[in-house]
Amino acid sequence: MHPSAEAIEASVAAAYSAGLQQQGGANADYIPYLAKVPSQLFGIAVMTVDSALFTAGDSGFAFAIESISKLFTLALVTELIGPRAVRDKIGASATGLPFNSVMALELYKGKPLSPLVNAGAIATASLVPGADANACWAQILDVQSRFVGHPLALCDELNESEQSTNSHNRAIGWLLQSAGTCYSDPMRSVDIYTRQCSTLITSADLAAAGATLATGGVNPLSRQRVVGAANVPHLLAEMTMEGLYTSSGDWAYEVGLPAKSGVGGGVLAVAPGKLAIAAFAPPLDDAGNSVRGQFAVAHIAKALGLNLYAVPES
Ligand code: GLU
Repeated sequence: MHPSAEAIEASVAAAYSAGLQQQGGANADYIPYLAKVPSQLFGIAVMTVDSALFTAGDSGFAFAIESISKLFTLALVTELIGPRAVRDKIGASATGLPFNSVMALELYKGKPLSPLVNAGAIATASLVPGADANACWAQILDVQSRFVGHPLALCDELNESEQSTNSHNRAIGWLLQSAGTCYSDPMRSVDIYTRQCSTLITSADLAAAGATLATGGVNPLSRQRVVGAANVPHLLAEMTMEGLYTSSGDWAYEVGLPAKSGVGGGVLAVAPGKLAIAAFAPPLDDAGNSVRGQFAVAHIAKALGLNLYAVPES
């Protein structure tokens, strides 16, 4: 059953006021831009498959997309090479290790296991075709824009902040290359991966992007198809396995919705066929997930009874 507008509105308001009480966590500081974002910002947005939008707090604040971008590049590459090749070349399992782990690569002979950790996302970026980095980047920015339903842009200050501090990701690029799991020039792949993390997005944009998955691949605002319906379940499965990094299992256990977070403080969850829930608050927990963001999304999902594993009582 689809939740009513009244129920969604009430759940968003309740999650916002309860979320304000949640303390703890800290802004990511390994990317200087992120350390400077005001920590008290807190926004929530829900968009239904019919494009109805419900918001609270700083839902219009544009924040760093970061790791949530991995999902959109994955969608692009899945469209291009198909889900079987994605699983063969990158993987569809949890690493059980932090998002930027090098040890995970060592353990699995250089196969990243998931396109939603840094190694897998760099490998995914390496599969975007193009004569040069700019040609690859144009396709990635285009797919991000189509997911949200309007043009997004690179934030130069954020990109500069990332590009000048991404030596760990460069090391991952070279490890992939040595294992044979980087499918084009490794430094070009890291460059476009770093750019894809450096666009700004609002909570409302994020909800629209999630609603695009909830509809089965059509953006509810533009009504344009962004990803084939047959590929959407694979994207949601990847989110379930690794979307919240080492917290993904706990999240499935408690909330039961595919989700994706980013170190910019964004969290997105998708209730297939119904709606998407997005939240943003910069302070992160030890796994790299927004404290208030996770709280707010979980609060709404529970209030609306969206757990995919719930079995109706007979
Ligand atoms: N740009 C960040 C990195 O590569 C994204 C990580 C994240 O959001 O989890 O470390």
